[in-house]
Amino acid sequence: LDPRLVSARASRIGPQLTLLIIRDVTERERLEQMRTDFVANTSHELKTPVASVSLLAEAIESASDDPEQVRVFAARIAAEAGRLGQLTGRILSLSRLQAAESLAQIEPVSIDEVVASSVEAHLVQADSGGVTLARGGDRGAWVRGDAQVLIEAVGNLIANAIVYSPKGSSVGIGVKIDGDVVEIAVADQGIGIAEADAERIFERFYRADEARSRRTGGTGLGLSIVKHATQRHGGEVRLWSRPGQGSTFTIRLPRIEAPSVGKKGAKKKA
Ligand code: ADP
Repeated sequence: LDPRLVSARASRIGPQLTLLIIRDVTERERLEQMRTDFVANTSHELKTPVASVSLLAEAIESASDDPEQVRVFAARIAAEAGRLGQLTGRILSLSRLQAAESLAQIEPVSIDEVVASSVEAHLVQADSGGVTLARGGDRGAWVRGDAQVLIEAVGNLIANAIVYSPKGSSVGIGVKIDGDVVEIAVADQGIGIAEADAERIFERFYRADEARSRRTGGTGLGLSIVKHATQRHGGEVRLWSRPGQGSTFTIRLPRIEAPSVGKKGAKKKA
């Protein structure tokens, strides 16, 4: 906080100054703490795959006369590199969402297109997980914001729904127009989330079941991105879940009227 700002406010506020400073300092310390934690957690998360890559590279060197072993190690390096790529991509998304004052793009966004793009981006994952994606509900809803950010948020919910669902189950992606609000719900019939975890899973790097989530290749950042992306759009995320029966995540966003044809952003983007 700029000290000049404090004194400027002080002259106006007078006796409430002490309270004001305490609150500002606490807020600043909280943000500073958040940043420090983020850097520490991120470095910790990056360390593991980086260490694996160096170990595997060393293993390749000493196994160079055994082509089969070399192939196995090389495949594992590729997998670790893929994981690093996903992790750094998500760290970037999250820090962009947290750092910026506002979204990079603000224009009318078609929810039909957001849902279609995020479903399409996960068809291969659904197929290999033996899960069916089913889209239903209202059409024609629009919001104001950044389509790419919303596609990533809905995509993260779909990706989780697939990961935490049994083979043969289905994931529903439903849209509901509710007055001034549009809801995008992603519902699965998977493992569900215990009440004690429900609040915490939106925190960065929090995983309900560390061992299982690590096996499934999670980063622990997906839901944090969903939360920040939604809040940046003036919306909120809701979660309903029952362990063993499934989970439904709902993104609720302020709705706008459909833009008239020809207006900026109303057309489908390439
Ligand atoms: P991850 O990359 O580990 O999935 P997320 O931030 O997306 O990280 O999710 C945090 C945790 O919330 C997950 O590790 C998992 O324990 C839990 N979770 C998220 N989505 C679901 C879901 N659809 N069903 C059950 N558990 C879920």
